[in-house]
Parts: sequence; structure tokens; C-alpha cells
Amino acid sequence: MNCSVCGNRIHAGRAIYKCTCGSFTHTQCWSKHLIMEHQPQYVLGTVTLDGAFVPQEIEATPEQTPEEIEQE
Ligand SMILES: [Zn+2]
Ligand SMILES: [Zn+2]
Repeated sequence: MNCSVCGNRIHAGRAIYKCTCGSFTHTQCWSKHLIMEHQPQYVLGTVTLDGAFVPQEIEATPEQTPEEIEQE
């Protein structure tokens, strides 16, 4: 059996993760599998003294469709 992330063999007796999608990964490869295959949505933020979650404002420009170049 091979790890679905790094492709290396998973040795007998080693702790591994079996994902709900059926993939097996090393424990150290698990987070990579989640991010690459399942792309969970998350928001980076901070916690106030009151324990409230405050999403961090992301300054990155939102994804835009590339401008079509119609010049000939
Ligand atoms: Zn692996
Ligand atoms: Zn999976």
C-alpha cells in the first residue's frame, strides 16, 4: 500500500490515516491530502479578549478573470 500524497510505501504497523474518500496517507502527509484533494474552506482571523472570532481582512486582490487581450 502506498501513500496517496507522497507515493511512498506505507509500512506495516505504521499509523496511517484513511480518509473518507478512501485514500490512505502517512500521518505527516494527512494535512497535504486534505488541502490538495478536499480544499477545505477556512478563514484566517484572530480572537478578541471576549473570545469572539474576528476574521482578518485580507488585502490580497480578489481573483479576477484575466483580461482578454483582443488587440491584433
Ligand atoms: Zn506520505
Ligand atoms: Zn480524502
